[in-house]
Amino acid sequence: MSTLLEVKDLKKYFPTPTGVLHAVDGVSFKIQQGETLGVVGESGCGKSTLGRLVLHLLDITGGQVFFEGNDVTNVNKKKLRELRAQMQIIFQDPFSSLNPRMTVSQAIAEPLQIEGKLSKLQIDERVRELMQTVGLADRLTNTYPHELDGGRRQRIGIARALALDPKFIVCDEPVSALDVSIQAQILNLMQDLQEKMGLTYIFITHDMSVVKYISHHICVMYLGQLIEKSPSKELFAKPYHPYTKALLSAIPLPDIHHEKKRIILKGELTSPIDPKPGCRFCQRCNYAKEICGSQEPELQEVESGHFVACHFVKEINGL
Ligand code: SF4
Repeated sequence: MSTLLEVKDLKKYFPTPTGVLHAVDGVSFKIQQGETLGVVGESGCGKSTLGRLVLHLLDITGGQVFFEGNDVTNVNKKKLRELRAQMQIIFQDPFSSLNPRMTVSQAIAEPLQIEGKLSKLQIDERVRELMQTVGLADRLTNTYPHELDGGRRQRIGIARALALDPKFIVCDEPVSALDVSIQAQILNLMQDLQEKMGLTYIFITHDMSVVKYISHHICVMYLGQLIEKSPSKELFAKPYHPYTKALLSAIPLPDIHHEKKRIILKGELTSPIDPKPGCRFCQRCNYAKEICGSQEPELQEVESGHFVACHFVKEINGL
């Protein structure tokens, strides 16, 4: 398998009236073709900003994004347009991302019309094909988004993302706004599409049970930084960072005979505005020592492919 996307030391800072907000602060990872990288963290940790930076929908403050070896952050407009066709996004709330005055077929046809490569007849044919691919019945062709449930609206979002035949899709909380039963249908659809088309996903979510279901690898984000990254199975079997342990302890277990102790995080969330030196999890960490308040821990490989940013990862986990 080859690397499709590589992100190196990516940064995005926003000036605010009270200081500089470090939304994404030195993030690096690679994604192999045909795989899903789950990016998980609490609201405000920078994961959605990260998704938009990867697609170059936002200007970066620092770092690089390579897609098939091309530096997305440093190409001319023509090349960026070509690359953008290969890199798409699915949004959390399909209702607000769809034009309420466009019918299903018009919404799916729009990216094809903007691209301008197909005739009207070819576009009609492609729209029919895309509707079939995402499981939207022909009879819905002329309906409007407000006439459809959340699951069908998200299927339109997926069809739009697929229209230009991309290789890579950023999925930004694509099932968070849906009922649990519909969530499973959409996740199944996304996995089927991945298998059939060899798609590569970044799957952004705050929901650990969803990310477990869909990801091959997982990055855990905390206040703009990656604090743990690992193959999915290993992360769920052996979370090493105190923050990841707390996130996983909050997932309900299906087995009622097996009780799990939930780790409640105490202490204040450190401000992402002009963050102080040291570990950003320091104020909420039960294991914090003096060094944690002054020296930022770097991601270190503690097992093959499993990286953790914590000064005391070995002591905490008896490694
Ligand atoms: Fe906790 Fe220190 Fe590790 Fe940060 S570096 S997670 S504060 S023990």
